[in-house]
Amino acid sequence: MDLKSLIREVPDFPKPGISFKDITTLLKDGAALRYVVDQFDGHFRAARPDVIVGAESRGFILGAPLAYQLGVGFVLVRKPGKLPAAKERITYDLEYGQDALEIHVDAIQPGQKVVIVDDLLATGGTISATAELVKRLGGVIVGFAFIIELDALKGRDRLAGYDVLSLVHYD
Ligand code: AMP
Repeated sequence: MDLKSLIREVPDFPKPGISFKDITTLLKDGAALRYVVDQFDGHFRAARPDVIVGAESRGFILGAPLAYQLGVGFVLVRKPGKLPAAKERITYDLEYGQDALEIHVDAIQPGQKVVIVDDLLATGGTISATAELVKRLGGVIVGFAFIIELDALKGRDRLAGYDVLSLVHYD
C-alpha cells in the first residue's frame, strides 16, 4: 500500500523550516489504518511481546489496536501530571529546553517483553526517553515500530542494536 500518498506534508508547521508529517489523513482511511497495524503485528508477533507501550499521544492511536490484535496489554507513557498513581519520570532535552515523560511504576513487570510504538521517528529523543522508562521498570525491549522515519535526523542511531520497523521513509 502506498502510505506516503496518504500522509499530508504541511510546510512550516509548527514553525518555519519544519515539514510536518500529518498522519490524520492516513488514520481516517480504514484500509490504511488496518494495514499499518497489520504490518506492526506481522513484524513483531513472532517475538511474542507481553505488552505494547505507546507515548502520548499518537503512540496511543497505533499502540492500542496493536495490543488488541496481539491479545496483550497496552501501557501509556504520558506527559507530566496526567498519570494519577505512583510513577517514574524522565526529563529529556529538546531543541529548545526540556520535556518530561512519565509511566506508572506498576505498568510493567520485570522481564516482560515490550514493543514501543510511535507515529514518527525524528531525532529519537522522545522514543529514547520512553525506552529508558521501560528499562527502569525492568522491561525487556524487543523492538520499536513507527509509521514514519525521518532518515536525515538519524534517530535510528540512538536505537542501535534494536529491531526498528518504519513503514515510510523521508530524507
Ligand atoms: P523526536 O523526539 O525528535 O524523535 O520526535 C518525535 C516526536 O515528535 C514524534 O512523537 C512525532 O509525533 C513528533 N514529530 C517530530 N518531527 C515531526 C514532523 N516533522 N512531523 C510530524 N511529527 C513530528
